[in-house]
Amino acid sequence: MDKNLATKQLAELKEKLEKYGYHYYVLDTPIVPDQEYDRLLHELLEIEELYPDLVTDDSPSVRVGGAPLPHFTKVDHRNPMMSLGNAFNEQDLRDFDRRVRQFAGESPVTYICELKIDGLAVSLTYSDGKLVRGATRGDGTTGEDITSNLKTVSAVPLRLKTQVDLEVRGEAYMPKRSFEALNQAKKEAGEEPFANPRNAAAGSLRQLDPKIAAKRNLSLFVYSIGELKGKEIDSHYEGLSFLKESGFKVNQETTRCETIEEVINYTEKWIEKRHDLAYETDGIVIKVDSLDLQKEMGFTAKSPRWATAYKFPAEEVVTKLLDIELNIGRTGVVTPTAVLEPVAVAGTTVKRASLHNEDLIREKDVKLGDSVVVKKAGDIIPEVVNVLVDLRTGDEKDFHMPTHCPECNSELVRIEGEVALRCINPECPAQIREGLIHFVSRTAMNIDGLGEKVITQLFAHQLIGNVADLYTLNRDELLRLERMGEKSVDNLLQSIEASKTNSLERVLFGLGIRFIGSKAARTLAQQFQTIDLLKNVTKEDLIAVDEIGEKMADSIVSYFEKPEVHDLLEQLKQAGLNMVYTGPQPVALAAGSSDSAVAGKTVVLTGKLEQLSRDEAKEQLERLGCKVTGSVSKKTDLLIAGADAGSKRSKAEELNIEIWDEDRLMQELNQG
Ligand code: NAD
Repeated sequence: MDKNLATKQLAELKEKLEKYGYHYYVLDTPIVPDQEYDRLLHELLEIEELYPDLVTDDSPSVRVGGAPLPHFTKVDHRNPMMSLGNAFNEQDLRDFDRRVRQFAGESPVTYICELKIDGLAVSLTYSDGKLVRGATRGDGTTGEDITSNLKTVSAVPLRLKTQVDLEVRGEAYMPKRSFEALNQAKKEAGEEPFANPRNAAAGSLRQLDPKIAAKRNLSLFVYSIGELKGKEIDSHYEGLSFLKESGFKVNQETTRCETIEEVINYTEKWIEKRHDLAYETDGIVIKVDSLDLQKEMGFTAKSPRWATAYKFPAEEVVTKLLDIELNIGRTGVVTPTAVLEPVAVAGTTVKRASLHNEDLIREKDVKLGDSVVVKKAGDIIPEVVNVLVDLRTGDEKDFHMPTHCPECNSELVRIEGEVALRCINPECPAQIREGLIHFVSRTAMNIDGLGEKVITQLFAHQLIGNVADLYTLNRDELLRLERMGEKSVDNLLQSIEASKTNSLERVLFGLGIRFIGSKAARTLAQQFQTIDLLKNVTKEDLIAVDEIGEKMADSIVSYFEKPEVHDLLEQLKQAGLNMVYTGPQPVALAAGSSDSAVAGKTVVLTGKLEQLSRDEAKEQLERLGCKVTGSVSKKTDLLIAGADAGSKRSKAEELNIEIWDEDRLMQELNQG
């Protein structure tokens, strides 16, 4: 890159970074995700490295944070509050270690690893052990006086256990649960929610009325000493112990590491485990322990050389939306799916993300060619969170949903009260294929070896047109198909055969009657026992059943009225499919079966189970008469904790709730 181009690009990058930094640091309302900011900053650093003489005093590479808000009294920090250098991967950590060891020479190096709490950096000044001032970091040199607000945070001691003169630094943060509750309340009041807990914490502390901060349930971890008079301290760790003894909250996950391998292991451990914490953390801060070595290494213009911040892989990233694809579900709903420029999110490559429906596309103002933020948390399907309108070039194109089904070309309809567009042609091949995929799925007939791919193949070769055709598949026909060897064909036929003995609720759910999920299917099967009884029930009979509402009842009655359904059931019967409920009887029906230790209890499942899936465990527990819920509360009677159980387990322990491991659960299920 020649110097002219470098100058031009630097100016453009600076302008963008300044704008984004202002929204983030000063207004507490970021307009792009951190990953986009970091990417641009990285580009700027690379150019500045090529042309060091182009680095100016106001470059985002040498400036810390943002300017103080004008309505606060300004506070000059006696020692600057700096930013931290970044490490994004193992190599960056090794490079940091190499630099540290160059300074240390022959001396051994100890690192202290701390969680990087995602909140707002603050400084607390104590005189004679009494809190006299609390301030934000601001631009590192000048912050804002927020003493009154900080005094409302219960983790901020107003008086220390020792009468010292001390300036301490820490991170004020909002716990995840308080953040969710706050945003819920904001939504209900029609107000704009906060983008994340960091901005919520910063927004709560940087406003003038301390009563608001007091209501926000903030907390604070301290992580370093800015200045301390009258006491000698040799290491960072010793400093943390002193702070703890003085009455501050110091994060208990902090650890001491002797090698960079140990540091890397620690960072890896927290990539997943951080989701179990009650507060947000966006990385790990690695600090040299020896204060002598810290002094020797000193600072760059922006950050200490003796520390670095390892950033966790982003779970929200920016990518380009190339196209919008339409998928037709088994009920005819047309779902738009974003086709993305492949991008790595939380360890996997994401190429597609759900856009849900047309209303959402309008609401989010999604256009073809847009830069979009994509999110993938845990094992949830990726979704498009929002569009970065700021990054538009003018080449983006509006997207319109089609008027006709892309598969069968019949006109799409929008049923009143629904957001979705629907293809209502019952012959639509896409719907039939999706219905078949649903029938064989795990929660329905659970036919091993019959996934989406094989069903699509069988359907394309016209070997199956409805679910009954699965039971007349012929071995020779199957062998003629691509990628179908003798062994896989035999296994497939065996699985299909085995599915004939499934209990009625699986068939019922598999048929895909509208509004009838797996739970309702089980209730119906338990209540009516055979398909012959069920197909002749009236709406009144159905509504009388607990958990069956009017919408479901109407749907069941109209389903069984259809002549083609009668034909299908006849074919399935002919094929030898069981149409009777053979599962355990419900507690209310089966006299004596309520003696299970879990009957009537409210149960929560957490962690990984080895011997059965979460869905299976839930299903079996419900059969034994318990209510399975998603979160631990005072109402929970029992927690079933599999391997690596995290925050739910801690919460249950806190509330003194009975906890079973998987073996104990299996023992109960086997008895039941
Ligand atoms: P930083 O967040 O990378 O690191 C410094 C800060 O870490 C400290 O000031 C302190 O507040 C915090 N911290 C938390 N736990 C700590 C611990 N245990 N020890 C020491 N410090 C700890 O640096 P920064 O300059 O404050 O901000 C840069 C970050 O802000 C980047 O992640 C960047 O993506 C983000 N940012 C985002 C935007 C945006 O528009 N989205 C704009 C500007 C900055």
